[in-house]
Amino acid sequence: MTLSDKAVKEFKDIFKKEYGQDLSDAEAREQGGRLVGFFEILYKQAQTEYRRKLRLKKEKIKGFYLDPTESPYTCAICGETKPGNEIWWDLNGLRCADCWRNIQEKVIPPLTWDHDNKIWIHDWQIHSDYNVHPATARKLRRLEELHGIDLKRGDGSIYCTVYLVSENKKFLKKYSKKPAMKVEYIDPKGNKIQI
Ligand SMILES: [Zn+2]
Repeated sequence: MTLSDKAVKEFKDIFKKEYGQDLSDAEAREQGGRLVGFFEILYKQAQTEYRRKLRLKKEKIKGFYLDPTESPYTCAICGETKPGNEIWWDLNGLRCADCWRNIQEKVIPPLTWDHDNKIWIHDWQIHSDYNVHPATARKLRRLEELHGIDLKRGDGSIYCTVYLVSENKKFLKKYSKKPAMKVEYIDPKGNKIQI
């Protein structure tokens, strides 16, 4: 994305005002261009979302499978990446066909992306975030101290296991979540940035 000379000048002025730093034309061109590119992506996403919501209204439906031409998407539950036509979209997000079937068959409640683990926990997190070795987790499941729900594909094979917070209160009392890692980096100007 190339910025006009006027836009570069404006970007330099804003940067100076906001951060008290002078950028060279080249720096302003590069950083400003990146910012515009970022907003273009956001804008495109907002447009896509709007188009999808419009379809819900028009066809009086609650959700639909996306178009095969739409870029691959990641399922909010199992985390697998699938082409558009294997991704069910509704107002709660994106779920792959297998997870969506498990929801419809009431194997699991209509789970969505749960970053804070307020409702459910993913299998890999039991190991990485709760410090429980997979072998220990299997043992705890046998002892019914950990309650997992296995998600199966059409052929009966298990592809993912989820743990509902409501069914694992005792376990969660005993094994607390590790604090999230803080990621910090220093930008070329020496500013500390935390993500
Ligand atoms: Zn899935």
